[in-house]
Amino acid sequence: MLYITKKMVFSASHRLYNPLLSDEENFILFDKCSNPSGHGHNYTLEVTVNGEVQEKTGYVIDMKKLKYIIKKEIIDKVDHKNLNSDVDFLIGVNPTVENLVLSFWKMLENKISNGRLYKMRLYETDSSFVDYYGNEKI
Ligand SMILES: [Zn+2]
Repeated sequence: MLYITKKMVFSASHRLYNPLLSDEENFILFDKCSNPSGHGHNYTLEVTVNGEVQEKTGYVIDMKKLKYIIKKEIIDKVDHKNLNSDVDFLIGVNPTVENLVLSFWKMLENKISNGRLYKMRLYETDSSFVDYYGNEKI
């Protein structure tokens, strides 16, 4: 079993905000991350696929194909967007890094052509990231 990882970057803005709470309660929970005008991040997304090497190609999955799938399903939809308002699959989602990785997983899990989606790591800053392995592995 081999583990193939593709790393991609995107930039986006967001506001951490729970609409069920008042602005004051949101500020207590999220501090400056709940600034009404939002703020931006340069995110790094790592997608790991596992599987066996295909005899015909020598690949688990063609990296160009994996890059294309991630770009089409996620990056093109979120890059240079406001994650609270501009992204169909994030409407109603409080765009924490945890919720983003859960949503990204759903977008990608049935789109991998060879191998199986094994792990996603999403960096919100250089020192803060979340790992997710899908529900069945918890
Ligand atoms: Zn933020």
